[in-house]
Amino acid sequence: PTMADSQALLVLENFIGGKFVPCSSYIDSYNPSTGDVYCRVPDSGKEEVEAAVKAAKDAFPIWSSKSPLERSQILNKLADLIEHDLEAFAQAESKDQGKTITFARTVDIPRAAHNFRFFASSILHHVTECTEMPAMGCVHYTSRAPVGVAGLISPWNLPLYLLTWKIAPAIACGNTVVAKPSEMTSVTAWMMCKLLEKAGVPPGVVNVVFGTGAKAGEALVGHPDVPLISFTGSTLTAQRITERSAPHCKRLSLELGGKNPAIIFDDADLSQCIPTTVRSSFANQGEICLCTSRIFVQRGIYSEFLKRFVAETKKWKTGNPSDPTVNVGALISKEHLEKVRNYVKKAQAEGARVLCGEGVDPLAVPPGNQKGYFMLPTVIAEVKDESCCMQEEIFGPVTCVVAFDTEEEVIKRANGVKYGLSATVWSGNVGRVHRVAHRLQSGLVWTNCWLVRDLNLPFGGMKASGIGREGAKDSYEFFTEVKTITIKH
Ligand code: NAD
Repeated sequence: PTMADSQALLVLENFIGGKFVPCSSYIDSYNPSTGDVYCRVPDSGKEEVEAAVKAAKDAFPIWSSKSPLERSQILNKLADLIEHDLEAFAQAESKDQGKTITFARTVDIPRAAHNFRFFASSILHHVTECTEMPAMGCVHYTSRAPVGVAGLISPWNLPLYLLTWKIAPAIACGNTVVAKPSEMTSVTAWMMCKLLEKAGVPPGVVNVVFGTGAKAGEALVGHPDVPLISFTGSTLTAQRITERSAPHCKRLSLELGGKNPAIIFDDADLSQCIPTTVRSSFANQGEICLCTSRIFVQRGIYSEFLKRFVAETKKWKTGNPSDPTVNVGALISKEHLEKVRNYVKKAQAEGARVLCGEGVDPLAVPPGNQKGYFMLPTVIAEVKDESCCMQEEIFGPVTCVVAFDTEEEVIKRANGVKYGLSATVWSGNVGRVHRVAHRLQSGLVWTNCWLVRDLNLPFGGMKASGIGREGAKDSYEFFTEVKTITIKH
């Protein structure tokens, strides 16, 4: 960037011990809908992580000794402050990530505020266990205590939503945290830091260190005074984090990628199923770990489904994310756009048919967005199960539709990938819905709906989609250390 440009750039600072601190070097951050550098993110490393961990350690004794009610009130206040600034947060998230302003306004930011409100409430309602052994004259009970400094690492697809889904339970339980958001989407985390003091979060309870995974992330994972790491991101990074934390026997929660099937039986209500499956395939540009990317349709309704599904997909408007009528914004980066496009090319080379979107329909974006990372929602048919498009996580606006004949066959094919995060099943037959849901290797199964969540219940994946679950009880268990105490009377 030139001198003139750099003056207009937004420059973020780390938030350590309740203070914003500049960093000695910075990373450029792009606006995905224009392709311009618009922000500079601290390129933190060992030194910054060290300072943040120290601040978190220093804050731990006071924060962990507060009552759940005191912490709950602070979390609620933080939720109020985020809600108060909802529009500013939504604008920032849309600009930073490329997602539509509508999605940021209705999903990302409301959920970020709700994460604090939800754990502010749930922390008040946990009970521990107690058993009696009259013959021995003993009573046993469990007690739970915060673990210490939690390391929290989050991805770029739902930036503030996923970061707060970790910060809220961690601090509600009495831990202090060092968080590292994705270097590609750091702005809303920085904005949240500005609200912490007003909410009453004491200095050092929430520290945010910005930077890359290779530098800041690795320093955090390798730090001996960070006994637990909650990570959401790709399976490949999770493997690296597991290796790095193994010498310290750290507690890990890993929320990873997916290759989520939708299974559509011939008795499905297509008027509900089609718009929902278009949404589950393309919401947030397909950049949600829970997005559908393999659609199995029973043969009797296959051609009708395809026709209606493509027609519905074509109604989705791609363009400037700040236009509230747009459904598909920009992908996160130039490299990611190339990667997603390449999957479509590979499918074509293998003989699959691209029914709409990439390479088939014209993409028209406004003049100011010509250098943005846009791609039309793309539907591919006649893809082989072993094709990379049916096996690997694409994480973009691409979905594959294939036909199946029997229940037995489709369960096997749906389970035939390394991932196991979520699945949807569409059928009017209640017995079938239960049978299929039980047999799918998937941490979440939605039948006749998608993305309806009760935060009380476990969220997470099987197989390469992760280890551990998050939710009211699960997050409480992860972010606390349990002790069994026996009293003889
Ligand atoms: P990523 O793994 O590249 O990065 C995630 C985070 O890890 C970033 O903050 C990154 O800087 C950091 N990181 C990278 N290398 C690291 C290292 N060696 N040590 C420590 N930290 C490191 O993932 P991404 O591309 O940002 O996100 C997309 C992925 O996240 C997809 O696979 C998606 O499915 C997954 N995801 C999963 C869930 C879920 O809940 N299961 C939710 C959203 C996204």
